[in-house]
Amino acid sequence: MSSPSRPAAKLPGTPQEVLEHVFGYRSFRGQQEAIIRALLDGRDALVLMPTGGGKSLCYQIPALLRAGTGIVISPLIALMQDQVEALRQLGVRAAFLNSTLSTVEAAEIERALLDGALDLLYVAPERLLTARFLDLLQRARIALFAIDEAHCVSQWGHDFRPEYRRLDVLHQRWPEVPRIALTATADTRTREEIVERLGLEDAQRFVSSFDRPNLFYRVEAKHDGTRQLLGFLQRHRGASGIVYCLSRKGVEDTARRLREAGIEALPYHAGLDAAQRSGHQRRFLREDGIVMVATIAFGMGIDKPDVRFVAHLNLPRSIEGYYQETGRAGRDGEPAEVWLCHGLQDVVLLSQMIQQGEAGEERKRVERSRLEALLGFAESTRCRRELLLGAFGEPFAGPCGRCDNCVEPPATWDATEAARQALSCVYRSGQRFGVTHLIDILRGHASERVRQHGHERLSTFGIGKAMDAARWRTLFRQLLAAGMLEVDPEGHRGLRLAAAARSLLRGEARFEARLEAHGSQRARGVKHRPDTGMAAASDPEVQARFERLREARARLARAQNVPAYVIFHDATLRAIAKSRPASLQQLAGISGVGDAKLERYGAAMLEALAGK
Ligand code: ADP
Ligand code: ZN
Repeated sequence: MSSPSRPAAKLPGTPQEVLEHVFGYRSFRGQQEAIIRALLDGRDALVLMPTGGGKSLCYQIPALLRAGTGIVISPLIALMQDQVEALRQLGVRAAFLNSTLSTVEAAEIERALLDGALDLLYVAPERLLTARFLDLLQRARIALFAIDEAHCVSQWGHDFRPEYRRLDVLHQRWPEVPRIALTATADTRTREEIVERLGLEDAQRFVSSFDRPNLFYRVEAKHDGTRQLLGFLQRHRGASGIVYCLSRKGVEDTARRLREAGIEALPYHAGLDAAQRSGHQRRFLREDGIVMVATIAFGMGIDKPDVRFVAHLNLPRSIEGYYQETGRAGRDGEPAEVWLCHGLQDVVLLSQMIQQGEAGEERKRVERSRLEALLGFAESTRCRRELLLGAFGEPFAGPCGRCDNCVEPPATWDATEAARQALSCVYRSGQRFGVTHLIDILRGHASERVRQHGHERLSTFGIGKAMDAARWRTLFRQLLAAGMLEVDPEGHRGLRLAAAARSLLRGEARFEARLEAHGSQRARGVKHRPDTGMAAASDPEVQARFERLREARARLARAQNVPAYVIFHDATLRAIAKSRPASLQQLAGISGVGDAKLERYGAAMLEALAGK
């Protein structure tokens, strides 16, 4: 790793000057400047900003401007090294302290902290909370505390970290040091938990829009998941991305199928040993074009900027989870595509998992309603962005023009009669059978099971012959999403009537269903191709220059054993390829080129540009 290069003095100047000279950016985004001001004034801040919104600058710049070291609490040891490396590349005096360091290395960093020779120090909550470390901090000068991924305090989320709940000690011991808590969680319940747990009642709140304008949303019904995934991946050849599956087995199988199809795919789940997991994570972060196939155990804090797609091969558990997982795409602001492929089986399986889980009744009820809300989102014909932001209480009036429903409005059909038949079949067969059996009855298929229960004598037997089984399945899924049916909470796969069924059965309501064109263009998703940047430069000369810059960047990264993106982001290379700066001075004007990087890599970039 490169060593801190700047002399041991605080930067003079204003936030704007630091932004330009250290980070190489021209202007602040959104509320960044106001947040920085609050910290410089010694106030606490609570920052709710989507992934890719630019949270890190909000504490990095004040840490550079205030006397002392900024202490950053971050839950993920595996990612600290890359975060710190990115800062060192900018000439910032940053370090991390965690269990991967030797005693000697750790002692050196502690000394640097006491000497005031660090701008930023990253530390895991476990270490921070040791008596020894708190004493060390007592002897150091602290510029601020930044609590990253602050939603880890929440017991409701799956990122819960018990140590986070003890972080109020910072406020008690250092009441005069400003604190900033940051999260990309849009969930209002979690927000309140953060405030309460961390004692942030007096903090100034900065809530950004949670829209991710560069993401294209797409949802598909599942027929043959892996085949559909391969179709989706065709548009993203050579790009980095994440594929989420529900189970370990799903992860293993999918990763294998992708590798057989010639895609560089790696599995990641809690069943792999720690070394394998971190090895795969490292490859994903450092190499171009790796597809990570993972359970939701993977992803928090992944700040790889150029993740070009996130695919869900199963229904996630909630809208909040879906938003967070898809949020890992397109951090760099360049176009990215998120894709959800879901089927009836997912609903049944997730319902069972909730029911059979350890949680108490109240929590199970909450989880069920979260799942239902997500199902409603998946089946809706409305603008996805409007629905998603609406779920977080953020008004957004579609159409957005960047989701499947806006670009190719789905056709609907009047399914009132069929829906009534389906509901009545559920009722007459005793509200305890699964979809396959129900469809057998409706289509008049006297299977062994049907005969065993005497269901061929039901009045609904054979009334739905005219419709094929696939269409019936789709309809059942939509009835679940509409709250007319629910999965039997006793843990069998049976369906039973739910509250909303009543008005339909009484003939008081109609049911418009989404028309799914099996195997059509829509299902294959080839009609609309969002540009995810892989073939972005239509001009072949610009593209050739971009490729040369990328090669030069790869060489520089390899020589230092760091990820390529800590040298320059793709967006910066693309801007260089396009504008062809002729001198270091012109190069300095490009976004992402600060003083330190100009000095280190400017000449190499100009050479690569000239094709030398
Ligand atoms: P978050 O932590 O909110 O997900 P980051 O802090 O990683 O987001 O920032 C996302 C990306 O945006 C990073 O590549 C960062 O360098 C870039 N960025 C942040 N602020 C600005 C800005 N004012 N101008 C240009 N790029 C920015
Ligand atoms: Zn839309």
